[in-house]
Amino acid sequence: MQFSDVHPVSREEAPLDLRALLQTRFGFAAFRPYQEEVCRTVASGRDTLLVMPTGAGKSLCYQLPGLARRGTTLVISPLIALMEDQVAKLQKQSLRAERIHSGRDREESREVCRAYLDGRLDYLFVAPERFRVPGFSQMLARRRPTLIAVDEAHCISQWGHDFRPDYRMLGEHLPLFRDLTSTPTPVVALTATATPAVQDDIVLQLGFRDCSKFIHGFRRTNLAIEVVERNPSARPGFIEALLKDPARRPAIVYAPTRKTAESIASTLSSKMRTAAYHAGLPLRERDAVQERFLAGDLEVIVATVAFGMGVDKADIRTVLHAALPGSVEAYYQEIGRAGRDGLPSRAVLLQAFIDRKQHEFFLDRDYPSVALLGQLFETLGDRPVDKFAARQHVTANDETFERVLEKLWLHGGVGVGAEEQLVRGNATWARSYDAQRSHRLDQIDRMSRFVRTNACRMLQLVRHFGDRNDAAARCGSCDICAPRERITAALDGVAFENSRAKSSRKGAVARDTDRPSRGRAVNASDKPSARGTAKRGGEDDTSEMPIELFEALRAWRRAEAQRHGIPAFRILPDSALISVAKVRPSSEEALLAVAGFGPSRVAKYGQQLLGIVSQQR
Ligand code: ADP
Ligand code: MG
Repeated sequence: MQFSDVHPVSREEAPLDLRALLQTRFGFAAFRPYQEEVCRTVASGRDTLLVMPTGAGKSLCYQLPGLARRGTTLVISPLIALMEDQVAKLQKQSLRAERIHSGRDREESREVCRAYLDGRLDYLFVAPERFRVPGFSQMLARRRPTLIAVDEAHCISQWGHDFRPDYRMLGEHLPLFRDLTSTPTPVVALTATATPAVQDDIVLQLGFRDCSKFIHGFRRTNLAIEVVERNPSARPGFIEALLKDPARRPAIVYAPTRKTAESIASTLSSKMRTAAYHAGLPLRERDAVQERFLAGDLEVIVATVAFGMGVDKADIRTVLHAALPGSVEAYYQEIGRAGRDGLPSRAVLLQAFIDRKQHEFFLDRDYPSVALLGQLFETLGDRPVDKFAARQHVTANDETFERVLEKLWLHGGVGVGAEEQLVRGNATWARSYDAQRSHRLDQIDRMSRFVRTNACRMLQLVRHFGDRNDAAARCGSCDICAPRERITAALDGVAFENSRAKSSRKGAVARDTDRPSRGRAVNASDKPSARGTAKRGGEDDTSEMPIELFEALRAWRRAEAQRHGIPAFRILPDSALISVAKVRPSSEEALLAVAGFGPSRVAKYGQQLLGIVSQQR
């Protein structure tokens, strides 16, 4: 084997020198802040929780100790794209990395399992839903990994909007291959976005007993934060005036909805090289926009939250928020993209009271009341009932009913069969759902408090994440610490009127019915809006539904759900199938314009759906 000299199988030898490994295997000259300490702790076999901002270099904190411990590091990662990216990077460095997820065929996965069992892998990346496959954990347990890394670990916490039931099962399965009888395989949990409550939940869910916690690096010394109150109609003009100074570009403007992103982009584009970026654009166009921005050909991107993941542009001078973000975690993540080069940069947040109302509206829509979920739960028993029969007992429209069912399922209150028959689940759903809903409301509260509070903005952020090593000094540069140095000071008292918004869609920011882009992080693009109202080329609600096509689509969905062992509505909701049946898209582009479809759904199911539609012509 090519690397057998670097990876002796014996566990008896002393751990390899971490610094030497850093240079020879990863090609880095030095550790970044905290990396060495974390790597040493993880290599020593302690369970570890690591919370550091995006871009801080968390991956190294499992990749390096894994090599040092000699053996295979098992990496649990929630997103296929992230996984593919990491594996490709490691393979380029001649490290033996492989992955198992739903995008790979059976034979590929089988070969990866063989390589794992033969000890031919340094890293095995696995999607959390794999643990639902019978026998998978047992297969892994046949050869003990030397380290287990849980990436994006906030997904395991029931407090978060990214909560993934598949991650939840990890807690059950980990003991199987941690071998708790002798020295257990250490686990390292990594995340960029966990408040103290979420941190505690991760520790609890993963069954850490005596763990080390590293919560670091949230203070940004070159970033000056400003908060400005402005009504939605005045915001495009304000943004334009602010970005007119070329020294404030390149810039990212975060908009609450796709529509707002497009309208602000068109306001700016007569004055500076600007483009919109959101999940409703074809993948090719998004890639092109991103590339042009990275290359400096575009100076301003007006984006929904879909933009920014993995964007490594060091010289962004300004990050502007055109509306109140849905959580401090999301806000921090987004402003963190400014000034990666260490030069002075600004984050400007525009908001007004109406933004909070908007978030509350979306909360009620996305998280139906406990009482509504209760209506469904009460109609269920041990004998399976048809979904449409149960639906009669819930006072909600179709769209809300689908959400009620999904939430109840996520929290264990209902079992869903392949034919969408429902059986009563566990009564504990109410507590956990209520906790999640309250947490979401709390996130909105905290964000509102952040803009209202007269305390140093940076200090508020550092405290929010519970960075206890921080010296707790005022930043000296935010609008609270240094009001006279605000770049927005020159615009105080200036009235702005956005002519476009005025003439066509007054108050559009506040009234938009798109899904708000704030407050959802990693898998936001997995759940595109199913609301038909704002979609281009959406179906006409009064048009007749072609029943045959709809039934063909349902049959396909049923098979797909069975194959993955999940309820049909997790593949696609009824509303999405109805839209496809009505619109009959004939290309991926056309499918992307159908309500309920974003790039990730199109990538996953596009070809299959288009195939079914074309057969029914
Ligand atoms: P995170 O997971 O914390 O968001 P990553 O692990 O993806 O961050 O690392 C961000 C970038 O920093 C990557 O391109 C990585 O190669 C680079 N990086 C990590 N550690 C170092 C280091 N010690 N020296 C130089 N670059 C590093
Ligand atoms: Mg990462």
